[in-house]
Amino acid sequence: MTEIRETVILGTGCAGLTAALYTARAGLKPLVLEGQEPGGQLSMTTLVENFPGWPDGIQGPELIENMKKQAARFGATYEHAEVTRVEADAHPLRLHTSAGEIRARTLIVASGASARWLGLPSEQALIGRGVSSCATCDGFFFRGKEIAVVGGGDSAMEEAIFLSRFATKITLLHRRDAFRASKIMLERAMAHPKIELRTNTVVEEVLGVEEGEVKGLKLRDVSNGERSVLNVSAMFLGIGHVPNTKMLVGQVDLDDEGYIKTANNVFTTRHGAIVPGLFACGDVQDRRYRQAITAAGSGCMAALEVEKYLEEHGH
Ligand code: NAP
Repeated sequence: MTEIRETVILGTGCAGLTAALYTARAGLKPLVLEGQEPGGQLSMTTLVENFPGWPDGIQGPELIENMKKQAARFGATYEHAEVTRVEADAHPLRLHTSAGEIRARTLIVASGASARWLGLPSEQALIGRGVSSCATCDGFFFRGKEIAVVGGGDSAMEEAIFLSRFATKITLLHRRDAFRASKIMLERAMAHPKIELRTNTVVEEVLGVEEGEVKGLKLRDVSNGERSVLNVSAMFLGIGHVPNTKMLVGQVDLDDEGYIKTANNVFTTRHGAIVPGLFACGDVQDRRYRQAITAAGSGCMAALEVEKYLEEHGH
């Protein structure tokens, strides 16, 4: 018979690992499932300067590794498994995964969000051949080249600044003339000698599909309709994220962008009524704050809700 777990956590980003730490310390021996993007968004970033407790900042992957070790010290275990479907109306909950079926009295979904793409066929054809959503992973390949970064938020600013280590010039393309990025990040990008900001500009096509590598971008200025070609060897996307909730479609309430709707801010999920035993935390249910520290905080809160739930149900 399949073993029944007290708690299973989906995701090894900041939220999942904080939930793992708290549930492990509560003696619940959490099983933490690592999906396709282990460590979540922090593992793809560089210096994290706004996580309290690190006055000089800390590298994202190091912060994640520390959190992982910390939870493991109290009994959290990790397994690589892709969850394809959750049966939220089964009790215990039933998880269909690439590593077989898992039964759990409680599940904390902390599956985060993945990079958004523009959705152009030429972009999709050139992913990994000059089109990338991860500057820290792929920036190195474009040493001495000219690069474009798309987006107007903090991710785009951070990518542009990071890529300035390798590239000779970075053109930051944003579709509007107002930025979502925080003042400090925007000012850094604007003051950077290698970064040029181009607003009101959209990418219509990535050139180079036939050659198998990015040769340039076909752009359109949305303020006057003018078209131009930008000669770059790479395009990095920093245009936000989409929540990883495919395995929950039809099982819990999702909003119009696919984020999990949590109830009463306590990370309980709903499917019409509250879904017993199923909790969510981190970016998969947060379209407003999306910070490492808020993800960690919500992971803690979800873990405390799990403890309370199990206690109330006599486990
Ligand atoms: P974001 O703030 O949602 O910004 C996404 C940007 O991409 C927006 O400028 C948006 O344009 C643009 N965009 C979205 N879809 C697009 C499309 N199809 N075509 C062209 N442009 C598109 O996302 P983010 O930058 O990833 O940041 C997410 C959160 O993480 C934020 O809260 C941010 O503060 C945080 N973060 C913080 C740091 C840091 O503090 N160091 C670093 C990274 C991220 P519009 O403005 O026109 O919508």
